[in-house]
Amino acid sequence: MERLKRYFKYFFRDELSIRHRLVNAILGSAFVVQFPALIISIFVGTGKFGLITQIVMTVIIFIVLYLTNKFPDSPVPNIVIVIVANVFVFPLMYFLCGGYRTGIVIWMLFGAIFTWLIVDTKWALVTSVVTFIMLNGCLHIEIHHPGYVSYLDTRNDEILDTSIAYIFVTLIFGFIFKYQTKSYEDQAKVLRDNDEALRLLNENLEEANIRLESASEAKSSFLANMSHEIRTPINAVLGMDEMIIRECKDKQILEYANDIDSAGHQLLSLVNDILDFSKIESGKMELHPVEYELFSVMNDCYNMIFMRAKRKELKFIIENDPDMPAFLYGDEVRIRQIIMNLLTNAVKYTKDGSVTLSLGYEKLSDEMIMLNIAVKDTGIGISEENRKYLFDSFKRIDERRNRNIEGTGLGLSITKRFTDMMGGTIEVDSVLYEGSTFTVKIPQKVADEGKIGHFADRLNRRNEALEAADKGSEAEEKKKGFTAPRARILVVDDVKMNLNVVRLLLKNTQIQIDLASSGEECLKYTLMKSYDIILMDHMMPIMDGIEALHKVREQADGLNTDTPVVALTANALVGAQEMYLEEGFVSYLSKPVKSTDLEECLLKLLPEDKIVNE
Ligand code: ADP
Repeated sequence: MERLKRYFKYFFRDELSIRHRLVNAILGSAFVVQFPALIISIFVGTGKFGLITQIVMTVIIFIVLYLTNKFPDSPVPNIVIVIVANVFVFPLMYFLCGGYRTGIVIWMLFGAIFTWLIVDTKWALVTSVVTFIMLNGCLHIEIHHPGYVSYLDTRNDEILDTSIAYIFVTLIFGFIFKYQTKSYEDQAKVLRDNDEALRLLNENLEEANIRLESASEAKSSFLANMSHEIRTPINAVLGMDEMIIRECKDKQILEYANDIDSAGHQLLSLVNDILDFSKIESGKMELHPVEYELFSVMNDCYNMIFMRAKRKELKFIIENDPDMPAFLYGDEVRIRQIIMNLLTNAVKYTKDGSVTLSLGYEKLSDEMIMLNIAVKDTGIGISEENRKYLFDSFKRIDERRNRNIEGTGLGLSITKRFTDMMGGTIEVDSVLYEGSTFTVKIPQKVADEGKIGHFADRLNRRNEALEAADKGSEAEEKKKGFTAPRARILVVDDVKMNLNVVRLLLKNTQIQIDLASSGEECLKYTLMKSYDIILMDHMMPIMDGIEALHKVREQADGLNTDTPVVALTANALVGAQEMYLEEGFVSYLSKPVKSTDLEECLLKLLPEDKIVNE
């Protein structure tokens, strides 16, 4: 019984097609009927010819049943059944079992229709034509040579045979159609259930997506807040420190102040790296191509790196191809960031020797060049096995050797992402303990035909001119500026320290400054006095800067409905500038604000007649 069940399960297993299960059902039933019939015939005794026919039939059914299950994907066993049944068995039965007056014609019809169920259309068509010819052939042979047919004994036997054939064929087809309909219904139900499951899954996915989106929004606003929260105190520290550098004469204290300045800027660049990285991760980093002067980028990098290299007694060399175009079109800020990241690393990971920045180009077309930036150092180098991790985020290699060197493992990852975004490549060539060369290639548009010349020559000329013009210290330099004693501005910020920083930064300008520590306080001032400029912080409790700006604009009897308002904020996220301008701010200053930026902004916006001594 167990074995029978196993066979049943095997013949009707789910992975078989409905057509295949049908073939199994028919052949299985035929075998179940044919095999006992053969045994009975052997015992009861039947004609030699009948016995051979029965044995052949049983063997054929068995072989085809075996083959069709052994090779379920092959159409051959089905074709074999169709040919054997239609071409051999039925025509043979026609002559052996009584000709057209018996049920054999019904069986032949059965064979022809059955063909359509189990083989594909092409084979079914061929077989139909063949069976038609076979039936006609049998009928003609019977008409012309009735002696070839062994007729049944009586007319009653013929009627009985026809009736049995009718009943069998009807039952078999009935079973087949019912089985097929049921199978399709079952399949349709499974599909409906799957559909429902898919719909539910979709709904869950949509919900998860909404949750993810809101989590990502939360992350963005967390970043904005974090940027604000961290940059605000840095702003205060750097601003106050700048005041010390400006005003203090004590050498020792100036040294401390310079250390605070360098550590503060380091902290700031770290916060910026994390912000940049998060922006890249969330896909919010965008390129802002502008026309820029290559010399100015090199100059900035030189100024920023020169002192660091000097402090470590490293030689800092800048070389360039003098024929390079002087003006390019691209994202100047990111290009500078890439060069700075590579130069900072080169200085960080080099104990003695030199750091060299080389700029070159290859012409791609009349309008495009490939900008080649190479930063070479004589530092600790990078082993071959570590090179593959170089551009991974937060991955610092050889941490044991580099434990005294500050870093987050983000610089090169950000550099690589920026390079990729600009359609460029970055490569590294390094020999352990001898040094490394990082080469970045970025396609850039040429904005002007002019050539840059030798950077080193231009730099020397500029330095000589600067030295001649100004023999004073860096601190002296910072004390220069303009005055505007008749100008009046209002500064709004919820952090007292920030208010103080702006006040102190502008001390030398003699501008009259009012300080408001909330949106509400700002509205009180704007009712009482008319200002030339309002500097407004964005993130303030209760009433933020944007709301305060709108209220100032709409203030009935307000004296500042047209006063230019500048956003003074630590929000450095992408799109911040556009957002502020759209809200109605005239300009945007990112904290920690530099005194030069602040003064430049005021100079632009203050009425000219109030500026003296520029
Ligand atoms: P980090 O903030 O640690 O400097 P980076 O992403 O800039 O992060 O660099 C990843 C790692 O690659 C560094 O920790 C350092 O081990 C190695 N590296 C980067 N530049 C150099 C270089 N010029 N010479 C030797 N090792 C370097």
